[in-house]
Parts: sequence; C-alpha cells; structure tokens
Amino acid sequence: MFTQRLLGEEAYHVRTVQLLSVIEHNADAIWLIDAADTVIDVNPAFETLFGWSAEDIIGSRLPMIPDYLKADMDELHRRIRTGETVVGMETIRERKDGKWIEVEATLSPIRDQTGMIIGITGICRDITAKKHAQHDLQMRTMQLESFIDNNADAILICNDQFIVERVNHAFEMIFGWSQEEIVGLNIHSVPFVPADVMAESRQLSERLRNGETLRGVETVRLRKNGEGLNVMVSATPILNTRGGNHAWSVTYQDITNWKLAQEHMKNSEKLSVAGQLAAGIAHEIRNPITSIKGFIQLMRSGYGEKQKYFDIMTSEIERIELILSELLLLAKPQLIKYEPKDIRVLLSQVLALLDSQANLKNIQFVTEYKPGVSHLYCDENQIKQVFINFIKNAMESMADGGMIRIQIQSLSEQDILIRIVDDGCGIPKDILAKLGQPFMTTKQNGTGLGFMVSKTIIENHSGQIKVSSVEGVGTTIEITLPIYTDLALLVG
Ligand code: ADP
Ligand code: MG
Repeated sequence: MFTQRLLGEEAYHVRTVQLLSVIEHNADAIWLIDAADTVIDVNPAFETLFGWSAEDIIGSRLPMIPDYLKADMDELHRRIRTGETVVGMETIRERKDGKWIEVEATLSPIRDQTGMIIGITGICRDITAKKHAQHDLQMRTMQLESFIDNNADAILICNDQFIVERVNHAFEMIFGWSQEEIVGLNIHSVPFVPADVMAESRQLSERLRNGETLRGVETVRLRKNGEGLNVMVSATPILNTRGGNHAWSVTYQDITNWKLAQEHMKNSEKLSVAGQLAAGIAHEIRNPITSIKGFIQLMRSGYGEKQKYFDIMTSEIERIELILSELLLLAKPQLIKYEPKDIRVLLSQVLALLDSQANLKNIQFVTEYKPGVSHLYCDENQIKQVFINFIKNAMESMADGGMIRIQIQSLSEQDILIRIVDDGCGIPKDILAKLGQPFMTTKQNGTGLGFMVSKTIIENHSGQIKVSSVEGVGTTIEITLPIYTDLALLVG
C-alpha cells in the first residue's frame, strides 16, 4: 500500500494518475462505492458490460444486483467494510436491458491515508461464455460417460502403452473382470486372449499402433473363468487435443449366440441335404447289395471262379463303405479343421456321391480340370458341402436332364477358380437379387439355406462367389479360393 505520506506529494499525484488510467482502460468492469453504498465512479468497461453510463448511476446504489441477491450483497458489503476481501466470487448480475449474466467478482475495501475503510471497490468479469462452454463440456462428458457405461457392448479404454484405463459395465458382465481388477494392467498381460490367437492379437495391436482403425474383427476371447467367447472387436484411436494419439477405445461385441445360431443353421442344412440325398444313397447301396447277394447265391450253388466273385464283392462293399462314410460326414456336426486338401480329390469324392442321383435324372457330369496347383487350406467337410449344395442346385434346375460342367483352373499365383456350369432353367432376375437370403427358395421341398450357407463357408475360407445366370439358358457359379502354396507342409 502506498500513501501520500510515504511517497511525497508529487510522486503521490503521479501514481494516482497512473492508477486512474489503469482503471479507465481496464477490460474488466470496475466500480467504487462509498461507505453509504452509493456509487462514486465506474469505468468504461462497466458501462459496456452492464449498459448504464457513469452519469446514470453515480450517487445512487449499484443497479446491477438482482433482487434475490440484494440481502446477500448487503451482508457481503458489511463484511468487506470490516476489512475482508472476496476474490473470484462467481455470481449473477443483471444488465440494464434486463439480461442476466454470470460474472466473477472481486471485492475489496478502500482505505484512506489513516487506514480507515471508506468504501468498497469491485471488479467484475463476464464469464457467461466461459460458463456455457464449461456447461457444454460437462454435458458432452456426461453424454459420453452414459454412452460408455450403458453400452451393451463391452468397452475397454487403454492408453498408448496398452495399459487399461477403464472398462464399462458390459465389459465386467461379459468378461467377468471387474474394473478394479483390470485397470492398470497391460492389455497383453490380462489372460483374456487364448494362446492360439495371441499372435493375431499382437498383430491387431501392431495395426492399431500404425494408425489403423479396426472394424468388426471376428475372434475369440476368454472370460475370467476361462470360458471361450466369440467376439467382434472394433478399435479406434482416441486423439488428444494436439491430434496425437494418446489412447484407444476397444469394443467387444459378444457374438457367441449369433455364432451358435449360424452353426445351428449350417447343421440343419447339413441334415436336410443328407435327407435329400438319402433316396439316392439308398438306391446306390441297394445295387451293390443285390449284386453281392447274387454272388453269394452263385457261390452257394458251387458255380464259377470263387476268387473273381470275392474281388467283385469286395469292391462292391468298398463302394457301400464310401457312400456311408460320406453320409456320416454330412449328418454329423463336425469340428472345423483346416488342412491342406487337393480340390480335385474333394470334387471327385463329391461327384462319386452324387453320381447315382445324376444317372437317375439323366444328368451327366463333365469335369475339366486344368493342370496346376490345386491345394486349398480348408475344412474338407465344409468345402464338400459347398460343392454338394451347388451341384445339387444345378441338378435340380435340369428337369429333363443335361450336362453339368465342373471346371478347375488357377486364376493367378494366389487364387484358384472353380466353375459349376449347368444348362438348366436359370435364375430369374428378382430371385438372383435375393440369392443368399435365408429361406429364399423356389422349390416345393427347398430350404433356401444352401446358397447362404455355402457363401458363408467360402467367405470363411477367404474366397468369393459369383453367380451369373440367364433364364432358360443356364447358370454358372464361380468360386474363387486362395491356393495353399506351402508345399513343404504338404509333403511333411
Ligand atoms: P434350395 O435349393 O433349398 O431352394 P438354395 O439356397 O440352394 O435353396 O437356392 C435358392 C434358390 O436359388 C433356389 O430355390 C433356386 O430358385 C435358385 N437357384 C440356385 N441355384 C440355381 C441353379 N443352378 N439354377 C437355377 N436356380 C437356382
Ligand atoms: Mg439348394
């Protein structure tokens, strides 16, 4: 505090002028009131902020205190007059136009040379905009919090070092880990990645680190109790204000039930294909049995060369065995097992199975296999099922018999192309557009599942299906699948 006494008359005058200039040009509204609460002066910023000119209010009480706060302010002014100072008080003030604004006020006593309090000075800053921004931020934070907490999918947020920072309620429910147990752990040290997909998981982290966003990656995770869980993982970087990456949010959608339903559909299709095949198979088995019976009768009566009969009978029994084993493959839900398999061998086995039915319907299979690598890394049963579905569709489209061509050729170093070409009834445009929708069938005893299941299987094998068809001319199904090239493994 400086006083006239300490500075001397002239210096005191200079300092006073300086201070008045500071008040005059201050961006904050400043007012001075005397001991009787009447306004001594206000600065231009006050006039701008509240709308009253100095002349309007000098000599009267401060006009901008809302009625409901008047009593509080009187009490506050009383305390300031006892020597208190109030800094950064947030409150409401009313402007001349009636609009209420939020301000931050600092009030302090004014003393005379003797130190006696002779009035109060106030400094006010408009913080309405700041408050709105704060409120907006709060709202947005609350929305986000509620979005995270109430999301049905499990959400995990980890920092750029993959340390878990938080998980939501769904995460706790789905995985069985509580927030307290998992926060602070490195995501890779939480035992929720099964050993056999660990490499894949690290690869995904690597992709994230390279700035990629993951969308709907299908994989497996473990619950706390060790139970496996089919999940769809999505992950996105969370950017900081400088645009840098400082965290990731990872979402896990539990697709176990969906997977089960899909499995169920595949199985019911398997059974129905088996059912449809039953007639053909019964026929196929009856023929060798009849011939075996005949030979047994011949042998009983002592005719002919027995060795030749044995050979024929053995080969007939082997044929029955083959058919029965194929039927079992179809009827029984199989564990999915990926192995290198020669597509030509699989196709020949499928054709052998369908041959008798084709003969009954006067349909001829023609195979055109171009030379080249023809190994796939696949599940044998599933791939066979795909060919059975497509070839059966082709057979069913040819009421009057005809030819089905099955072609194999390599498309590139990586891909093989399999074509199934029929000259049947073709597919009308409106049906073609709906192909692949479950239960879409034009047949009285059709399931409308075959195409969909086949497409899923091929896509699971990283392949593609293309259908072209002309009504009355025929249909071509083109299947592209990746070639398996690790021959070392094939030999081993
Ligand atoms: P489903 O054979 O039980 O009807 P799919 O899913 O196998 O079920 O086939 C769906 C429909 O697509 C069939 O009902 C048929 O109308 C049509 N379709 C499929 N393949 C062919 C084909 N090769 N020729 C003519 N129509 C076909
Ligand atoms: Mg079908």
